[in-house]
Amino acid sequence: MSTDQRVALITGSTSGIGAAIARRLSADGFAVILHSRSSAAVGKKMAAELPLAAYIQADLALEKERIRLMQESLTLWGRLDVLVNNAGISRVIAHHDLAAAASSALWHELNEINVVAPFHLVSLAETALREAATRGRAGCVVNISSHAGIRPKGASIPYAASKAALNHVTRLLALSLGPAIRVNAVAPGLVDTPLTADWTSAQELWRTRAPMHRAARPEDIAAIVAMLAASDYLTGEILLADGGLNLT
Ligand code: NAD
Repeated sequence: MSTDQRVALITGSTSGIGAAIARRLSADGFAVILHSRSSAAVGKKMAAELPLAAYIQADLALEKERIRLMQESLTLWGRLDVLVNNAGISRVIAHHDLAAAASSALWHELNEINVVAPFHLVSLAETALREAATRGRAGCVVNISSHAGIRPKGASIPYAASKAALNHVTRLLALSLGPAIRVNAVAPGLVDTPLTADWTSAQELWRTRAPMHRAARPEDIAAIVAMLAASDYLTGEILLADGGLNLT
């Protein structure tokens, strides 16, 4: 591998938005490290298809698994230039159903995967990302958040609150880690992935109300991540990517 080969780790990258990000960053010339919690066969197949790609399985709910994921990632190529915290979980609960959303276990689960794990991975990658800056380009973190973290919307209040926390963590880290490491987030509205395949009322909303008249494709979100990775200046931004629905 040439010494100027940049390396990106994308969590949750065997399906949906994460898979599109991995394919896009690979096409842009990155060596990519694919990751998922369970679909190892898909991950290994993708890694075999893409040039300079590898796959690592890890459950991000567990601290020791996060540590192993980062150790194995850094061992692979000896460097890390871009970390995309894409893995996330959602729970669908009507916002007015407070009793259903009030379980501590539910809040802890969402918070652990959507907030604590991304923060922990940045902390584990900090030294490697700072080294990227010594080679001439700042290290880069992109967190995949949600429009639900900005607007009073989304699958459930605990999910929206976890993404709002991730947005604030993004800004706090950008302030703490610059100029060596840039930290940004993308906040998608509805994206056509297996997760949202049966969200018919949301699909109808985007078709009829959003200025772009459609939900995002995973490739639309991947293009924004690629733009953030290519930048040498943007930091602390939460890029709302909802096809303009927020204007209505
Ligand atoms: P997805 O279910 O296809 O992908 C989620 C990924 O997260 C999977 O690869 C899964 O392996 C990983 N993951 C979940 N729990 C994990 C765990 N404990 N350990 C390790 N990995 C774990 O869904 P998606 O729609 O592609 O979502 C990707 C990201 O985009 C998520 O953070 C989600 O909140 C966010 N998002 C999605 C939409 C949408 O409409 N699809 C909208 C806004 C934000």
